[in-house]
Amino acid sequence: MTSGSVVSRPRRVVVVGHGIAGLTAADTLRAEGFDGELTIVGDEPRPAYSRPALSKALLRDIDDLASHTLPPSDHGAVELLGVRATALDVGRRRVVLDDGETLPYDGLVVASGCRPRRLGAEAATGTGPGTGAGRRDDALALRNLDDALALRERIASRPSVLVIGGGPLGMEIASGCLDAGCDTTLMSLGPPLLDQLGRWLSDLLVDAARARGLRILPADAPRPPADLVVTAVGDVPNDAWLGSSGLLGGGRLVVDSRGRVRQDVVAAGDVAAFPSTDGPRRTPLWTSAIEQARVAAAALLRGDDAVPYRARPYFWTEQFGLSVKAAGVMPAAGDPVVVDGTGDACLVQWPGAAAAVNYRIPVPRLRRLCETAVA
Ligand SMILES: Cc1cc2nc3c(=O)[nH]c(=O)nc-3n(C[C@H](O)[C@H](O)[C@H](O)COP(=O)(O)OP(=O)(O)OC[C@H]3O[C@@H](n4cnc5c(N)ncnc54)[C@H](O)[C@@H]3O)c2cc1C
Repeated sequence: MTSGSVVSRPRRVVVVGHGIAGLTAADTLRAEGFDGELTIVGDEPRPAYSRPALSKALLRDIDDLASHTLPPSDHGAVELLGVRATALDVGRRRVVLDDGETLPYDGLVVASGCRPRRLGAEAATGTGPGTGAGRRDDALALRNLDDALALRERIASRPSVLVIGGGPLGMEIASGCLDAGCDTTLMSLGPPLLDQLGRWLSDLLVDAARARGLRILPADAPRPPADLVVTAVGDVPNDAWLGSSGLLGGGRLVVDSRGRVRQDVVAAGDVAAFPSTDGPRRTPLWTSAIEQARVAAAALLRGDDAVPYRARPYFWTEQFGLSVKAAGVMPAAGDPVVVDGTGDACLVQWPGAAAAVNYRIPVPRLRRLCETAVA
């Protein structure tokens, strides 16, 4: 990255990505006093919406799409929606678009997010461990509103469903399929949610899932027949359009602690690998995208005077009648201490992390724990 703290304030900023990171960056630029030309490019041809809702309320609520749209913004940017950035020329400071136009900039925010990882070639034949439908094309994945609408339409007729992937997204999809009345099986590499949340929360949510009727199989088990296969096996960053720009280091978009790739280019959200104690890494979470975007936009205007990003991991999930909100270092090791418990909620704590668990349907393990706390 170009060093030095003297930054010439940009007059034309282009934001690529119309998700929460891109929109937060645009709002922050205005809040920081940027009054120049602002253009947002987004390849989804619709107003921005809440992505986390896709695997939660949206799988359940049939009619109410509007309530998931993000509130209108007053950043006053030109929004080019349904338009994709296809290349970046950092020397001439131009973003190339798929409609043949080029957008000049003197400040660029890269916020193009990520897309679902697809199972490999073995999925096409259904021969590999834990692979999905007979043909790869049959498997759905969930990343955008169209995916969610397609999934909702498919599960409305109550097909048998195989979900591949035992992370938070796979478990939420399985929960939505069960709610819709589908016979649902989930295949997971190791216990679901163990890697993300640790043993205690994993056990709790798996108990709740089994009680609701979820069948859980190891990823190397023979693949059960299913009418519908949904994969949730991770994601890959949308950085192909940066391929010839020279900005990808080791195939990744690595930024500094202020989100800078270079002085005139910043990045935030799911696409960007920020410094961490384990080296540069992406943190594909909603609140991380917001916090990174604030830092990156400020750095575009103020350089080294901007406050660096400090990770404050926060995560939530809703599944199988439980809602979990967790802050701090996850996965959490060992059993937590119960800080507080009521009839339908429990607050637990580990060294370095805490979680609030609310439940519509109590799980025996949780009830025992909360009752102990209340007593
Ligand atoms: C179903 C689902 C549920 C989730 N649930 C949770 C949750 O409960 N809690 C949580 O913390 N996080 C959750 N997440 C993760 C969270 O939604 C993401 O971390 C967050 O949306 C990232 O925001 P972003 O702006 O970086 O990327 P995105 O939201 O992906 O936005 C990037 C936008 O840029 C567009 N784009 C990509 N390439 C280009 C291009 N070349 N040109 C123009 N536009 C482009 C994309 O289409 C997209 O519209 C969930 C994600 C999904 C998919």
